[in-house]
Amino acid sequence: MAHRLTINSITPVGGTVFQYDLEKPENFSFKPGQATDVAIDKDDWREETRPFTFTSLPDWDKLQFTIKSYPDHDGVTKQLMNLSPGDRLIIDDPWGTIQFKGKGVFIAGGAGMTPFLSILRDLRESGELAGNRLFFANKTVTDIFCKDEIDGMSGLAVHHVLSEEDRPGYLHGIIDEDFLKQHVSDFNQKFYVCGPPEMVKSVKQALKSLGANAEEVVFEE
Ligand SMILES: Cc1cc2nc3c(=O)[nH]c(=O)nc-3n(C[C@H](O)[C@H](O)[C@H](O)COP(=O)(O)OP(=O)(O)OC[C@H]3O[C@@H](n4cnc5c(N)ncnc54)[C@H](O)[C@@H]3O)c2cc1C
Repeated sequence: MAHRLTINSITPVGGTVFQYDLEKPENFSFKPGQATDVAIDKDDWREETRPFTFTSLPDWDKLQFTIKSYPDHDGVTKQLMNLSPGDRLIIDDPWGTIQFKGKGVFIAGGAGMTPFLSILRDLRESGELAGNRLFFANKTVTDIFCKDEIDGMSGLAVHHVLSEEDRPGYLHGIIDEDFLKQHVSDFNQKFYVCGPPEMVKSVKQALKSLGANAEEVVFEE
């Protein structure tokens, strides 16, 4: 069922990523990690739906999306960057397969962090962050979004991985089999993977050849 929702605030959170806080329809529910189809409620854009993940928690009194814009490309995310509070988005019912199934290693590439942001916020609220690890891959340090919040998640082991910059305090490279072998010692645990499709495919393949059980690897299907 479609809902037309007013944007109450838009907050920059790093790089070209913005958080959009929206009014929440009554009795709207979703699970942390789920997404929905979103369109901009303006002429010429209502039919252009794109998937985005809720980064608010189900018990918040607002909905939130955390959206990376691609300003060089004339798509929906470029238009989103130009919206203001008072504009509206049209959203549909929640869907998606990424859900927390137990302690493990989260591997996120760029905007693929969004389902994990929601899941990790939920674990923070319930005091269950300890024992989880996050590898957050970006091209450069300026691409990292919500960095202060993520780094401040007490109990979560956070590793930022930069593919195009070599900086002290950051891991450098891409997350491939060699990288995983070097940084993860136990492949008999849960892995959560979300990012660009080619990254998800290659990380899944690498995890498989390192002995991870396919049923313990959670990704968007
Ligand atoms: C389940 C799911 C949940 C998601 N959740 C989020 C989220 O919470 N936050 C978020 O930021 N993203 C999320 N995404 C990704 C998001 O849906 C896309 O970034 C968005 O649909 C892009 O829309 P667009 O209209 O801007 O680009 P589109 O017009 O849809 O174009 C995207 C395509 O254009 C290509 N492209 C990109 N830039 C250029 C360019 N400069 N020139 C030519 N081609 C280009 C891309 O490779 C891509 O194939 C999610 C995706 C999925 C599948």
